[in-house]
Amino acid sequence: MSPTSPILPEQLSLWHEMIGRATNIVITAHRGPDGDAIGSATALCSWLRRCGKRATIVVPNYFPDFLHWMPLAKEILVYDGHEADVKPAVEAADLLIMCDHGELNRMWTLGELVATTTAPRIMIDHHLNPDTTAAQLIISRPELSSTCELLMQLMLADEGIEPMTHDEAVSLYTGMMTDTGAFTYASNNPDIYELISLLLTKGIDKDKIYRNVFFTYSIERLRLMGYMLYAKLEVMKKIHCSLMTFTEAERRRFNIKAGETEGLVNLPLQMRGMKLSIFLREDSERPVIRVSLRSVDDFPCNEMAARFFNGGGHKNAAGGEVVGTMDDARKQVQRALTKYMPMLKESPLSPSSTTSGPAIGGSSAD
Ligand code: 5GP
Ligand code: MN
Repeated sequence: MSPTSPILPEQLSLWHEMIGRATNIVITAHRGPDGDAIGSATALCSWLRRCGKRATIVVPNYFPDFLHWMPLAKEILVYDGHEADVKPAVEAADLLIMCDHGELNRMWTLGELVATTTAPRIMIDHHLNPDTTAAQLIISRPELSSTCELLMQLMLADEGIEPMTHDEAVSLYTGMMTDTGAFTYASNNPDIYELISLLLTKGIDKDKIYRNVFFTYSIERLRLMGYMLYAKLEVMKKIHCSLMTFTEAERRRFNIKAGETEGLVNLPLQMRGMKLSIFLREDSERPVIRVSLRSVDDFPCNEMAARFFNGGGHKNAAGGEVVGTMDDARKQVQRALTKYMPMLKESPLSPSSTTSGPAIGGSSAD
């Protein structure tokens, strides 16, 4: 049994045509790059180099320390703060490949720069509602767990498993693992495990990859977890929902670095009967409150994010923001909860609200 290929023959032939014409390729990822963004970008970069191309990875901003061990991570160019150095690399590209983002505006200022360039673009992504004008070739599969899964399928369709390197397998596995919370959500599709068993034939140490990503907290971050759960967690039991807030003052007090609050939003869902977790965080750069939403079962975080927080995402993991203070954000949360009250009241433990069978529909994180 081999995994079903989601790559259409016409996509593969356009891929060949566009890659064939290119010599200097720039690979981009979304702002706040995560394991899937860095994993897909680095695996693709290595693959393109094997094919004799010049390839460079450019990301909009800093990516977290727990991904710095990844293959090729040291070569990644960061646009924020290095604009003058990175701009020429982007402008020199004769092909741009967007990894793990379906719109240029997910890259903020780097997206603005890319929009001024004339090189053709390819999109490889799994987010809902991609901007179909953003690239000439769009390989978008929102039903897949991760961009890494999609990229691996593209590699298999193109050349099979044989030429794949150990490091490419490490990158691909990392993205599949991080976008599924180590295969605890959006991961019921049997194909994922077919792909993983192929990756294991490359000699990857999946247990070590897990530790590299998830067991890397600083003492500050671990203490923050304790503080957040002890002092900041608000639980609205009747509507199976929780709320945590995090301010800049707290960031300074606990000496927390950018990216280190990642994952805190998932913790309250470990409580029995929880359906929705909301995390509000003061942005360190702009006067906005960043909103993170996580849910179980059918609660549509992406819909709530789009309607109330000017954002989007996936069914069980979405985000957005509120322009204003923490109080403004709390008020907006209240409005959102009021709107979704009937759905939230229903217990997630009741059999009627649990999904059965493979849930492969767009519920991954990023
Ligand atoms: P997080 O809570 O980790 O910041 O974001 C979870 C997911 O929600 C992301 O992977 C992304 O798909 C989506 N998301 C987060 N922030 C935004 C936003 O401002 N706009 C949109 N469209 N999606 C977002
Ligand atoms: Mn992703």
